[in-house]
Amino acid sequence: MKKIVITGVAGFLGSHLAKVLLSKNNKVIGLDNFSTGKKQNLLAFSSNPNFIFIDMDVSLEKVKELDELNDIDEIYHLASPASPAFYQKSPFDTIAVNTIGTKNMLDIAKRNKAKLVYLSTSEVYGDPEIHPQHEDYNGSVNTWGPRACYDEGKRLGEVFCYLYYELFNLQIKVARIFNTYSAGLRNDDGRVISNFITQALKGENITVYGDGTQTRSFCYVDDTIKALMLMMDNDMANGELINIGNSEEISVIKLAELIKKLTNSSSVITFHPLPQDDPKQRCPNTKKANRILGWEPKTTLEEGLLKTIEAYRTKLNDK
Ligand code: NAD
Ligand code: UDP
Repeated sequence: MKKIVITGVAGFLGSHLAKVLLSKNNKVIGLDNFSTGKKQNLLAFSSNPNFIFIDMDVSLEKVKELDELNDIDEIYHLASPASPAFYQKSPFDTIAVNTIGTKNMLDIAKRNKAKLVYLSTSEVYGDPEIHPQHEDYNGSVNTWGPRACYDEGKRLGEVFCYLYYELFNLQIKVARIFNTYSAGLRNDDGRVISNFITQALKGENITVYGDGTQTRSFCYVDDTIKALMLMMDNDMANGELINIGNSEEISVIKLAELIKKLTNSSSVITFHPLPQDDPKQRCPNTKKANRILGWEPKTTLEEGLLKTIEAYRTKLNDK
């Protein structure tokens, strides 16, 4: 039985990952400070005897003193707000968790000789001039804007991973996650898929920012979680940056129209100002993930949206 740490366990991806790792008979130590995560996300496994939860901010030095973080095999470092609406509300905490929090988790990995997967983001490419984005592209990020706390926080998190890999020869891997979704996203998360589906199901206006020509590429949660676990298990991924995402690219306006159609909604699509520095296009080149991990996403956008819509419908009806 492996002893695995997940930071950000009460969040969207963390709770999903915990469920899968516990189902494979691992011991999971989950940490979270509930800044964007919810206690409700832990309910499916909080009574599992192989799960231990610790309510703590992983940016604090005292995280390294926790007895539960001894004799561990693996760390998935996910703690960080991910929705632009949330990270822009807590910019300093966002920088702290991705820099000091990452260093804390790397120190714990070093002490335990544990493997570590850090969740970075496609946002390290900023508003990219290269399309699709491959891992060798260094990005185009603005340091002087509302997204910088997240983008540059993640970039510095990657630097810490690089240094610990180079200097201490640890088994560290960095996953650059592109937009991932499922009904596990909070209805009020603020990210586009949860906004559009919630709005469509409630018959409210579907709020497109800008003219909707900007693009994103959406990956269903099961595919992303599978990739993270493959990275952890694969030694060829040590010291590598790997894009994890689905290359099925769609414009935001087309996404709004598709969700309106799939929900059979009478909502009206309305247009609102485009937030500053909103990337114009985003699509992963996933050749490296395919070559090293033998991974490719299995769920098409339409299949994933249909599952997500049904689950949101049930959530809304239960209220
Ligand atoms: P989320 O907001 O649902 O989950 C993040 C979790 O981290 C929350 O439970 C939050 O309470 C916790 N957290 C934040 N700061 C913390 C701290 N200082 N100490 C302890 N816990 C803290 O977001 P998510 O979508 O699940 O994202 C998880 C990770 O994946 C993040 O690192 C994010 O940057 C990365 N990521 C996600 C996506 C995506 O599309 N979902 C894309 C790129 C990167
Ligand atoms: N977006 C939108 N309406 C919304 C929420 C988001 O048009 O209600 C747009 C946003 O401007 C961006 C894209 O959808 O172009 C994806 O936004 P999200 O916040 O999900 O993630 P991002 O990829 O920008 O981090």
